[in-house]
Amino acid sequence: MSANTVNPDHCLFAVPKKGRLYEKVTAMLKGAGVEYHREPRLDIAICKDLPMTMVFLPASDISKYVGEGNVDIGVTGIDIVEENCSEVERVMDLGFGACRLCVQAPVASQITDVKDLAGKRIVTSFPTLTKKFFDPIDAEKGVTTSIRFVSGSVEAACGLGLADAVVDLVETGTTMKAAGLEVVGTVLQTESILITNPDSKHKKIVELLKHRIEGYITSKKFVMVSYNCSADILDAVSSITPGKRSPTITALTDGGHAVSSLVSKKEIVRVMDDLHAAGARDILVFELSNSRM
Ligand code: AMP
Repeated sequence: MSANTVNPDHCLFAVPKKGRLYEKVTAMLKGAGVEYHREPRLDIAICKDLPMTMVFLPASDISKYVGEGNVDIGVTGIDIVEENCSEVERVMDLGFGACRLCVQAPVASQITDVKDLAGKRIVTSFPTLTKKFFDPIDAEKGVTTSIRFVSGSVEAACGLGLADAVVDLVETGTTMKAAGLEVVGTVLQTESILITNPDSKHKKIVELLKHRIEGYITSKKFVMVSYNCSADILDAVSSITPGKRSPTITALTDGGHAVSSLVSKKEIVRVMDDLHAAGARDILVFELSNSRM
């Protein structure tokens, strides 16, 4: 078998081969214990402990491969699934790659209503979603908006005189601002998702991957807090750290109690302040390296 041949019995998992999602997806797979060794310049890699082969593909093609059943499972954006009208099962949201697909017009044009762009020229990498967005506005105004596809550097189109507005992804807004554009409307909110083919014959592996990835995502969202307190404040501090299910309480030999509980990372600083104010002491916070709920 050549290095580029896929074992027909393997579950195929598609990962964006480069771009801003690549690092996040590979970190997630590592954290979830999906181990593989990718040779330089090869777009496939066999997994170490699962009958699975990783395939590295352009993010914009992954939903097509999964939808058509060439690949069993993959990571891509909601925007790509919707643009390609791919019939895939959404297994879970991954909590990264969040951004908005926006209608953007030059600040100098002073356009603030998308209706004022109906009948004009739009340039985008998302022609299907853009058409869906403008169709009802066009119908209302009795005009046809011109939608032209470009594969990249969409933000340059207005400056080059090719478009009156663009439809492009906005994360921080830096690219948009640098091109002298501003948001006029939002077509779609998107983030990275795990997708699978509904007829995949590798349901058990898909389920296992889902649990592994969920465990990793939970471990990134939560920290473990532990502290000591006296019996009289146990109810009060327990209500500050109720945990996912309930706090773990251990009786200490001096009559006090040790409490440990999961707390959302976003809330941990406030929770520590509240615990200290309520009388808890020896408050320690631990990162989680993995979890399985
Ligand atoms: P920003 O300057 O952070 O708003 O990023 C905007 C540029 O990055 C646009 O050209 C987008 O095409 C691209 N981009 C932003 N977020 C994503 C994402 N989650 N997935 C793919 N491309 C993105």
